[in-house]
Amino acid sequence: MEKTYLFAPGPTPIPPEVLLAMARPIIHHRTPQFQKLFRGVLEDLKYVFQTQQPVLVLASSGTGAMEAAVSNLLSPGEEVITIRGGKFGERWAEICEVYGVRSVNIDVEWGKAVDPQVVEDTLKDHPQAKAVFWQASETSTGVKHPNQELAQICQKYGVLSVVDGITAIGVFDVPMDAWGLDVVVSGSQKAFMLPPGLAFIALSEKAWARVEEAKCPRYYFDLRKELKSQSKADTAYTPAVSMIMGLRASLDIIKREGLENIFARHALLSKATREAMKALGLELLASESPSEAVTAVKVPPGVDGGAITKTLRDKYGVTIAGGQSQLKGKIFRISHMGYVSKADMLLVIGMVEVVLKELGYPLELGKGVSKAQEILFP
Ligand SMILES: *Cc1c(COP(=O)(O)O)cnc(C)c1O
Repeated sequence: MEKTYLFAPGPTPIPPEVLLAMARPIIHHRTPQFQKLFRGVLEDLKYVFQTQQPVLVLASSGTGAMEAAVSNLLSPGEEVITIRGGKFGERWAEICEVYGVRSVNIDVEWGKAVDPQVVEDTLKDHPQAKAVFWQASETSTGVKHPNQELAQICQKYGVLSVVDGITAIGVFDVPMDAWGLDVVVSGSQKAFMLPPGLAFIALSEKAWARVEEAKCPRYYFDLRKELKSQSKADTAYTPAVSMIMGLRASLDIIKREGLENIFARHALLSKATREAMKALGLELLASESPSEAVTAVKVPPGVDGGAITKTLRDKYGVTIAGGQSQLKGKIFRISHMGYVSKADMLLVIGMVEVVLKELGYPLELGKGVSKAQEILFP
């Protein structure tokens, strides 16, 4: 039996409507047909990002938009502050380093959210800092940072807030304009329910003003060129046409459900997952400030962490994620992001139980599932 199920925090499952949209004959991109499609997509992306600013579409994975944020906003030698509480926080700092931007890193224990006071103190100590970089949802640890408070602190100190919203946009509420965020990036293979290959980036007016002054080198990811083209529903280079056809379909699904309902669904599925894991006697990595995108669970003592993900995948066709870097073998991660239903959660929780039992963890089958059932179907 080769039926498979995907519960990794990217790529995530893709609805059949989206797959079918991408399977249609490709159209040429320098045509009124493409422009009509693209214009509609760009308009609806503003709804998802909760902004009046243009949301630019780039042909790259999410990291492309992260790199674009650094190279378009800063000059070599300038100083920024990076909240580094996981693999993706490290990525911001690494990109800055490559561009000669000096990153003052706030190291946060993996699994914990940053303390806003520490960010404020760091800004006081570094009055030259131009921006604060962070993850709205740090996918490697399953943590949600205190996003609104961080946005307020950035405003208070007059620095740009640059947010990796790759597993936040379309998962929980991060209203860009209402919170005054300066840069928000996202990517296609998470809550947008698409394959990997598109990145999105939106900038505030203040951030756009910085783009003109920034001296970091850039070519493919020169946002000035993209803004000029995309404001005419065109693109600077060949767009990922079929992906944009898929994006049209996924935005239709998102609009039909509505952001409010989407946020409520992710909140419910994530709560059910966390409570189910606790009912099995397992400990959560991000117990205080969990993200609604993904739940990170500590591997119980005596169980081989790598074997959990491997057995689920190779024996039962269920893909979840393990830990990255320092968390490799120490956690497993269950995604409930994007095209995921209540029924899906019972499947993955039930299968995690089966595999943990097989690997020698003493548990009573069904305890996690029944906890999840209580929460999902009150
Ligand atoms: C997936 C992800 C990224 C982007 O990774 P890509 O492999 O470039 O798509 C960046 N940040 C976070 C928080 C992510 O979850």
